[in-house]
Amino acid sequence: MPEWLGVAIAVLYGTIVGSFLNVCIWRLPRDESLTHPGSHCPQCGKLLRAWDLVPLFSFLLQGCKCRYCKGPITWRYFSVELLTGVYFGLAYMFALNNSNAVVVDFLQYALFGAALIAIFFIDLEHWIIPDQLSVFGIVLGIGRDVYGLVSHTRETFHIPVPWTSLSVPLPQSLAGIFACGGTFLAIAVVSYYIFKKEGIGGGDIKLAAAVGANLALGPAMLSFFIAVALGSFIGIGLMIFGRKSRKDYVPFGPMMVAGAFVSMFYGQTLIKMYYRLVGLDG
Ligand SMILES: [Zn+2]
Repeated sequence: MPEWLGVAIAVLYGTIVGSFLNVCIWRLPRDESLTHPGSHCPQCGKLLRAWDLVPLFSFLLQGCKCRYCKGPITWRYFSVELLTGVYFGLAYMFALNNSNAVVVDFLQYALFGAALIAIFFIDLEHWIIPDQLSVFGIVLGIGRDVYGLVSHTRETFHIPVPWTSLSVPLPQSLAGIFACGGTFLAIAVVSYYIFKKEGIGGGDIKLAAAVGANLALGPAMLSFFIAVALGSFIGIGLMIFGRKSRKDYVPFGPMMVAGAFVSMFYGQTLIKMYYRLVGLDG
């Protein structure tokens, strides 16, 4: 299959998945079922037909309006479909050039990225990260590891048992879940007992575990540094421009998503650059 055709198919699937993500972004924070009822206009309640739901095109052809009641439809629907489509295309190109298991790695990048996109928009608006999305990410990471173990394309950590010559094999995803989820849990407990306030929510801890399940340990930790740096930068910016006071809440999930996207594709490169910068050969 020529590369451009693979990219085109990935983009097409991405817009369809993006269309489903719009359903998740609306319904998950409202505790509504993802399947029942079928897609309907949030204003007039009219059940939408297949031709009302063609990704990207339906929105443009109908001029950002509901075909039945002419009520406005937010640009988020179009943006999420376009974003997910472009992302799937890029993820496929990245897997093609960097992976020895192109299809499996593409699926992991694409599906974990899709969950991250939904988390980004939900946390930004509702300040919650639905468990379904984090658990999906965790299962996905473990699944990729199982494939890696079966096909011998992924190495397993061996944790030495103290005072013996034995070691316990630990798949990369489980190591990441414990290390990343554990770090966030520890910070949450410390900040709760010392500062008497909830700095990190349970949703952030589960998202950290999902990032640890899908990224190697170094890039996962790097993604959290990027998130903290980005959060401080944006928080200070908002305070300078008087948009927020120090007590206002800025959700951390979107920063973690941004960090995870950067680190998923450029983490290893950035870590190597850092090692070279400080004079260590990584
Ligand atoms: Zn309508």
